[in-house]
Amino acid sequence: MRIAVAGFADETCTFCLEPTTEERFEPAVQRGDEVLEENRGIPNYINGYIRAAEAEDAELVPLLYAKKTPGGFQSWLTTSCFDRYADEIAERLRNAGQLDGVLLALHGAMAASGVPKPEAEIVRRARAAVGDDVFIMVTLDLHANEDHELTDVADGVFVIKTYPHVDTEETGEEAARRLIQAIRGDIKPVTVCRRPGIVSASIFQATSYHPMKDLLARCREWEESEERLLYLAVAPGYAYADVPDIGMSVFAVTDDDEELASEAAEDISDLAWSMRHSFARDLPKPPEAVAEVMELVDQGKRPVIIADGADRIGDTTHVLHELLRQGAENWAIPGIADPQVAEQLEETASVDDEVTVEVGGWYNETSGDPVEVTGTIRFMGRPRYERVGPMGKGSVVQDGFVARLNLGNNRHLVISDRLRGSNDSAGLTSVGIDVDSLDIIVLKDRVHHRAFWDDVAEVDYPINAPGIGFADLRELEYENVPPNTFPINYEGE
Ligand SMILES: [Zn+2]
Repeated sequence: MRIAVAGFADETCTFCLEPTTEERFEPAVQRGDEVLEENRGIPNYINGYIRAAEAEDAELVPLLYAKKTPGGFQSWLTTSCFDRYADEIAERLRNAGQLDGVLLALHGAMAASGVPKPEAEIVRRARAAVGDDVFIMVTLDLHANEDHELTDVADGVFVIKTYPHVDTEETGEEAARRLIQAIRGDIKPVTVCRRPGIVSASIFQATSYHPMKDLLARCREWEESEERLLYLAVAPGYAYADVPDIGMSVFAVTDDDEELASEAAEDISDLAWSMRHSFARDLPKPPEAVAEVMELVDQGKRPVIIADGADRIGDTTHVLHELLRQGAENWAIPGIADPQVAEQLEETASVDDEVTVEVGGWYNETSGDPVEVTGTIRFMGRPRYERVGPMGKGSVVQDGFVARLNLGNNRHLVISDRLRGSNDSAGLTSVGIDVDSLDIIVLKDRVHHRAFWDDVAEVDYPINAPGIGFADLRELEYENVPPNTFPINYEGE
């Protein structure tokens, strides 16, 4: 049994300004044997495929895995960038010899110029290469924006069920196992997609909390009570790709039972619609948020994580401005992205220098004004460290240039040359910050950090600050969203 493995994955923030070209992909693209070698043993989709194939004695034929290199602020993939990898996958499939199945690791939130539904198009081109008799299974991120066009061409669609994403390997394994069963004739996969018409900011999609927790619990009930229902999952979607299939989709995979697939997917879709207001809540803006967080700290609740989820570039200054204005102490911002200031510090300053710089607020009108800070440089360099939290534990992070300024009163501002998160403590300790001494940690993140920080921090405090990833989607100007999409252009309740 021979199964081809390929992937082409991107979560494209179309509110960024610059198009994405091959240059952003090519250095990270894996081809041929690299696809298996580079992913083996790392908890991700491909390693899940490998595990299932090894358990079932299937041969994997690795072709191509294209993902962007980290960093950068790019938007829509150019058509030629999309074509290059979608066509290369098809070409490699044509040259792969006799195949019984195909596993495709896609993301689901790709946006490509001139290609309205990129993942469906990737699968269509793969389908044209292998013909109708070869099964194609797709794995997707929970932030996928998809509709029936994908299920029209793929035999099975398997969406991960966790955010923070900790089940990519498990999902890859499930998809591969089902593919092998289908090839053997043990099952006949039938997949449907249903869409309730809801778009939600990522910050409302954590799967350990309402509403996603309840939707996924109902999925589990369905799966447990219906033997022929093989997989039922919800992709709440990615709100920052302005594409025609934006928003939530429910995927049901059954063993040859279209009616059951439709019934289950519609039930979940209806339940999601009844919970729509939980996917679009009002969150406090930075002035009131910082005031309330300081009050929580006064009450002994520390540390508090402020999740500034709107900042996809890393340069927004709204929270920094409020922390300074309201006189907060014992805080850290592990990254404010400012390539120019970072370069200037690298060239002209050294550790222990006192410097005054204007940071952030350079990307667009949502960034806020640059903020002047004076502090002592306590760290400079390019930290390299291992992740210590449940997400990607053991994988190595290589930062660009960063400088940590101590502004006095245990206030730490890390100036970085690109967006720098700290989804676990390693991002802080790697620049010499004593995490235990902090009352407030400001993360430019939405949910992934919670895999680690929920066990460490007393409070996770999401806010509604301006940025290209606004939590309030009505602040964004969409062009491709279909009519009657909640909450963007929905007229009813
Ligand atoms: Zn995701």
